[in-house]
Amino acid sequence: MNHALIPHVLIPPPTNRVLASDCTNDCDCACALDSLPVWTESAALWQRNPALRPIPLTEKEGWQAAYNPRGPLPLAVLNLAAWDILNAYAAPRPLEGESPAERTAIQQLAQAGFLLPLDTAPVVQPPSLLTAWLHLTDSCNLRCDYCYLPHHPQTMPRETAFQAIKTLVDLAQSHQYPALKLKYAGGEPLLRFTLLKEIHAHATQSAQQAGLRLETVLLTNGTLLNHEHLAYLRENHIRLMISLDGIGKWHDVQRHYAGGKPSFAQVEQAIERARNASLSPHISITLSENNLPGLPETVSWLLERSLTFSLNFYRENDCASAIRALDARSPHTRTLLEETFSRLEANPPRHSLLGMLADRASFSSSHLYPCGAGRDYLVIRPDGRIAKCQMEMHIPVTSLQAADPLAELRHSPNGLQNPSVLQKPDCVTCDWRSYCVGGCPLLAKRVSGSYETRSPYCELYRFLFPRLLRLEAIRLIKTSKS
Ligand code: SF4
Ligand code: SF4
Repeated sequence: MNHALIPHVLIPPPTNRVLASDCTNDCDCACALDSLPVWTESAALWQRNPALRPIPLTEKEGWQAAYNPRGPLPLAVLNLAAWDILNAYAAPRPLEGESPAERTAIQQLAQAGFLLPLDTAPVVQPPSLLTAWLHLTDSCNLRCDYCYLPHHPQTMPRETAFQAIKTLVDLAQSHQYPALKLKYAGGEPLLRFTLLKEIHAHATQSAQQAGLRLETVLLTNGTLLNHEHLAYLRENHIRLMISLDGIGKWHDVQRHYAGGKPSFAQVEQAIERARNASLSPHISITLSENNLPGLPETVSWLLERSLTFSLNFYRENDCASAIRALDARSPHTRTLLEETFSRLEANPPRHSLLGMLADRASFSSSHLYPCGAGRDYLVIRPDGRIAKCQMEMHIPVTSLQAADPLAELRHSPNGLQNPSVLQKPDCVTCDWRSYCVGGCPLLAKRVSGSYETRSPYCELYRFLFPRLLRLEAIRLIKTSKS
């Protein structure tokens, strides 16, 4: 059999993302998990999505890649046989193929929105995950330059933590979320490890009784992480996110102890310890002008260890000190990001890069809101009051005592507003709008004075996005061969 004639469609994993909207990126924000459009395959006639844009792939003979600006999935890489199938739908026809391989390719293209049904509206899926940030303590042993917390000596009492679990489980049930995600956060949550264990046991039991799927992640600076913690996390299926901003001085330049002592050595040891304990931490990198020069080296270090990571561009806030935001226009910034992408292209990881390299923009799937703030996300303070975002902890809009804190939070005129990308005049006609969605609304408001405007990082995003799609297409091709 001539394998060149067998259609192959490469789509970034997880391919079931469309059906199981899930948050796999354990950054410190709330994932954008708003409704994804899905078409039922019962429509009679289908056609090639007219909005598709080719992605140039030099020296990748035999493969074509295309960008889908409206989703639900942004990217597909097709061999020539699959490309012919896609083009056969230039004129509307039924979804049918002659061989099992053809039928699989057609189904993949339909699920990704590369083939669209005629005259059938997509089914909009309800959000499937309620997320809560549990602020176990405001205390921290580090004093990172960009931290948005005032470090008041506040810790969450046990009764408040238990009340929070009860409220969250009730809210998930009454608002019909099948799953609940808890972020054990601070400050440094390992300073309250005993409380964390008690909360987690209670949450596990409560979710089980309520028939909810429970996801949990510990957001830590890594400096205190020991064998006991790791054994507990592994046994209890708690994911691990460690903040690491660079290798050596590129980390220490902005993440240090209260007295200024560097912290990289402890974080590096914690990461190695976690890997030796078969726990693969997700690495969260905050990028500013201060640590940007170290990014290529940092990414190589992470690739050698097969660690997933996400780049978060520094967001201005009142508590930050001695830090410079990325200069979106600087050729220096762009050169360093291109060098980072080159390293990823030379040594592509097994995991998709689409949700990891472009700050709040996520190319995992199309969405309308940049994050879940004000919608599917509650930030619970040590005193039981609730804010919309961890960066707005000082503006509580409701509390655990309210009859329906989620409804109050959604309708509160106080604190951040999180408009849909369709309400942002700068973004609504943009080809990237379904994945970029205008960026962090808090940052837009702070820099431009409005929530309904494009991100201050817009120019940098537009520089990165085509390169990111091309990089992911090449990664898919290379890893499909191995
Ligand atoms: S911030 Fe810029 S790149 Fe993003 S959707 Fe708006 S206009 Fe497009
Ligand atoms: S408002 Fe900004 S900082 Fe807050 S969760 Fe959303 S993206 Fe993150």
